[in-house]
Amino acid sequence: MHSPRIFLSPPHLSGQEQANLAEVLASNWVAPAGPQLDQLEKALAARLLMKHAAAVSSGTAALHLALRHLNLAPGDEVICSTLTFCASANPIVYEGATPVFIDSDRSTWNMDPNLLEEELRACASRHKLPRAIVVVDIFGQSADLDAINAIAAKYAIPVIEDAAEALGATYKGRPAGSAAWASIVSFNGNKIITAGGGGAIVSNDEQLIERSRFFATQARDPAPHYEHSSVGYNYRMSNVLAAIGLAQLDVLDDRVASRRRNFEFYQQHLGELPGVSFMPEARYGMCNRWLTVMQVDPSQFGATHEAIRLRLEQQNIESRPVWKPLHLQPVFSHCRCRGGHIAESLFASGLCLPSGSALTECELTKVCEIVESVQSNQELASCAA
Ligand SMILES: *Cc1c(COP(=O)(O)O)cnc(C)c1O
Repeated sequence: MHSPRIFLSPPHLSGQEQANLAEVLASNWVAPAGPQLDQLEKALAARLLMKHAAAVSSGTAALHLALRHLNLAPGDEVICSTLTFCASANPIVYEGATPVFIDSDRSTWNMDPNLLEEELRACASRHKLPRAIVVVDIFGQSADLDAINAIAAKYAIPVIEDAAEALGATYKGRPAGSAAWASIVSFNGNKIITAGGGGAIVSNDEQLIERSRFFATQARDPAPHYEHSSVGYNYRMSNVLAAIGLAQLDVLDDRVASRRRNFEFYQQHLGELPGVSFMPEARYGMCNRWLTVMQVDPSQFGATHEAIRLRLEQQNIESRPVWKPLHLQPVFSHCRCRGGHIAESLFASGLCLPSGSALTECELTKVCEIVESVQSNQELASCAA
């Protein structure tokens, strides 16, 4: 008999969601509009110390709306971190533009500002500047936004912060997701808090948020009938989901604390194993430790991160390799990448361990024991050989 599956990053409800949902059902605001949706937008903007937020159906949709506002044309280029989930780059392609990838900085795993500067200099010398920069806060750690913004400002290129994984993290004392022209967050089920799906675009640029709402609601021109002079999308968030999101936003700080506790537990119990290291925390801010990422050097550890993943899976425990860099993805193989070997090496050795905020000490201990067992087995094997 198997024990219940330990997931990588499952939802963790607070209990308040049910009461919020009951209120929504009683009020009949079961629609992509309603008081909970308005409240969620206000609460999220306040949390990020930003002026405006528009809640939408996903983080991907939020990023699409930010790019839509820039009126990209076919042949335009948009810079994007390479070490990320495909959703950071897909909306660039929705808009007919071409992604150009930038490698990670070794110490933060996020976009390397020096490589960005090199790339922009090369673009400028060809008289073809990228139209936007999508910079990702990977695994809950903010990118170095001051450095990125400074370089982008030299060339007057708007910066979009993909903070889908970084809600609750900080950058130089401010909330992650508050440092760029626009930022996007996600309430997908695997993120640090969830609404069961959904996302938001956040900005101090009122016109951007207004236009995003316009495009998210089928681009309806002001008229009593349905009048359209642009093609829009149906990207609104349901008020039902907003009620869940509101309850979750209330416990965000608790969730960050729990995920950071997971990280410390793993580091304490596994950090001394030969060949094992963990994702570093940048000096400039607090990582929310959305996922605990372990790196395994097989020449020292005696087994690969894939051997660990398979052993965990045998015990019904989910773990996953680090994001495969986008420049290695078949769908983006035609796109340029500046650098790439840092992200490639992180992909080659990185394993995301179970990181849910409801993990018990017993479960964490079990994961650690299994990782240790892979190492000791390999040692025995190599002694016998
Ligand atoms: C999850 C995620 C997204 C997309 O969010 P959805 O709400 O799932 O569309 C975008 N970027 C990154 C880095 C993510 O991890």
